[in-house]
Amino acid sequence: MNFASRMSLLGTESAFDVLVKARALEATGKDVIHLEIGEPDFDTPAHIVEAGQKALADGHTHYGPPAGLPDLREAIANDVAKSRNISVHPDQVVVTPGAKPIMFFTILALAEEGSEVIYPNPGFPIYESVIKFAGAKAVPAPLIEDKGFTLDVSQLADLVTEKTRLIIVNSPQNPTGGIVPLDDLEVIAEIALKYDIPVLADEIYSRMLYDDAFASISAFEGLADKLIILDGFSKTYAMTGWRLGYGVMPRETALQVARLVVNSNSCTAAFTQMAGIAALIGPQDAVTTMMEEFRKRREVFHAGLNAIDEITCRLPGGAFYLFPNITALARPAQEVADYLLEEGGVASLSGTGFGKYGEGYLRFSYANSLENIEEALRRIESSFGKLQE
Ligand code: PLP
Repeated sequence: MNFASRMSLLGTESAFDVLVKARALEATGKDVIHLEIGEPDFDTPAHIVEAGQKALADGHTHYGPPAGLPDLREAIANDVAKSRNISVHPDQVVVTPGAKPIMFFTILALAEEGSEVIYPNPGFPIYESVIKFAGAKAVPAPLIEDKGFTLDVSQLADLVTEKTRLIIVNSPQNPTGGIVPLDDLEVIAEIALKYDIPVLADEIYSRMLYDDAFASISAFEGLADKLIILDGFSKTYAMTGWRLGYGVMPRETALQVARLVVNSNSCTAAFTQMAGIAALIGPQDAVTTMMEEFRKRREVFHAGLNAIDEITCRLPGGAFYLFPNITALARPAQEVADYLLEEGGVASLSGTGFGKYGEGYLRFSYANSLENIEEALRRIESSFGKLQE
C-alpha cells in the first residue's frame, strides 16, 4: 500500500512502545517494575463504576449528540467554572473519548501548512506529532530545569511570528511534574492577547498538585475568546481505559471541534459519560486518598533518586512523574533507559521521548506501590553502578 506522505510526519507516545517491550521481556521470565506508563494504578472509584454499569443496564447503548450528553456538558461547565472561577456555558463544552482528541482536533482545526505552533519541549509527545501531521512547523519552547521546568517566558515572544497559530501550555506538566507559575501564565496570556494567538491549555493534571493551588491561564481577562482548556477524567478519577475527556472553548470553536467529532468518532460512549457525571457530582474523597498516596511515593522516590550518585532530581509540584537529570552518566538517555529495562528490570522512559530538550533525563511514573518503588531504587542504583564500571 502507498501511504499518504503525511503519515511519515506522525510521531508516537514512547510509553506504549516501552510497555510492549517490557511485557515481551516479562514473557521470557524477567521481572520488570513498570514505571513507564502514565496512568494511576488505582481502581476507578466504585460509585463511578456503578453509574457506568447502571447506564448500560438501563439501555444507554446508542449513539448520542456529538458534543456530548447535555447533562454531562452541564456538569463539566459547572465544574470548570467553579475550579477556575470563570463563567462557562454548556455550549462551550465538547466531550471526547479521552482528552487526547481535544489536542488532535484543536491542532487540526487551527494549524495548517505554512503556519507555526509553539509547544513545550520536553512535553507530551503528541503535541509535536500532531502539529507536524497538520503540516505546520513545530516550534519548541524549551523548559528550563533550574526554573522548575517552566518555559522561559522572557524568550517566548521571540518565538512568535506572524505565522503563529497556536501556543500550547501544559501545567502541571508531563513529563517533568513542573508547574508554570501564575506570573509566567500572565506573560503567556499577554503575548497571546497582544499577537491575537489562541492558547491550548492542557490542564489534564489540574487536580494533581502537592503544594500549590492550581493556577489556570483562564484567570486572565480577555483570553476567553481564544482559549481552549483541555481536561478530563483519566488521571483525576483513575479512568484511563474508559476514554473520557473534554475541551472548554469559545462556542464557535466548539462547533468546529464537534464537526471533527462527527467526522471521526461520532460521539463518546453514553455509559462512559454517565459514569463521568457520577464522577463530577459524587463524593471526591477517592481523589484525595489517591493524591495522599502519590505524595508519599513522590517523597520516597525523590529522596531515593537523589541519594544515587549519578542522579539529581527536582521535587515535582504536580502530576505523578519524576524527571531526574542523568547527564553525569554521559550517555544518551535512550541507551540508559534501554539498559535499565534489560539489565535492571525497571521500565522508564527516555526524556527524548518527550522531545529533543529531554536529552539527559529519564521519566519515571510513580504510579506503582511504595514497595516496588523501593525495589526499583535498588535496581537503578545497581544498574547505574554497572554502567559506570
Ligand atoms: N495531556 C497530557 C499532558 C497527558 O499526559 C495525557 C495522558 O497521558 C493526556 C493529555 C491525555 O489524556 P487522556 O488519556 O484522557 O486522553
